Amino acid sequence: MKNITTRLGRLEAYFAERAPAKAAYDGFLRESQRWEAASRAVARLLGWTTGQEPPRGHDEVVSFLQGELMGDFLDGFNPGRQADPAYQRIRIVVSWTPAAALRFFAAVPSANRITVAESLMAPSGAIAWAGELVRGMTRLSYRVPPNAPPAAAVALCDDFAAQPIDAGSCDVACIDCGFPRVPGADAGPCPCCGAAGVVPARPEGEAEYSWQAMARMELGIRIGRLARAVTITS
Ligand SMILES: [Zn+2]
Repeated sequence: MKNITTRLGRLEAYFAERAPAKAAYDGFLRESQRWEAASRAVARLLGWTTGQEPPRGHDEVVSFLQGELMGDFLDGFNPGRQADPAYQRIRIVVSWTPAAALRFFAAVPSANRITVAESLMAPSGAIAWAGELVRGMTRLSYRVPPNAPPAAAVALCDDFAAQPIDAGSCDVACIDCGFPRVPGADAGPCPCCGAAGVVPARPEGEAEYSWQAMARMELGIRIGRLARAVTITS
């Protein structure tokens, strides 16, 4: 079973060069425990049980989460970054990644999860469509509601997978529930809630949509609690 925290090659080089404060590193290790918990829960959603070899797709899950966590950690130790309000906002968004990944995989039917996991990362190591979808959830560009019907989740994955590689993120969301709607797709009713309207997913300088407030709550939940909830019911 791969472990995010113990794959510290990049960090060892970083520490040799800059030696950040021990407290900061300890904080990183504490934070990484949440990400590990999410990684294990996603592995269970992929069919893993304790004592078995990890399932296909798990490598990509770990690589994706590790990349997001390490990027955040290393960024935070650039000079002046900790005091930068923009960085503080980014930190909150990044801290939602474990919950977003877990909620996304819980919404996808079990038969489709391994294929989706393998689409987190492109063969080159770049983030692929499923990774971009999870990132969009953390940015509150859209929301995958806990009660999204399995068919809606499958259609969403098909739509994202069919997009050009440089257009992996979605531009519009359902006005009522925040479910991602692919630009240019037939603007029929939302496959999740049935609403007809769509809204720009990132309203610069505009008031938050009601579904974005719900997304904040859903992504801010304790990972242990979320992991128990989704691995029992999925
Ligand atoms: Zn909807």
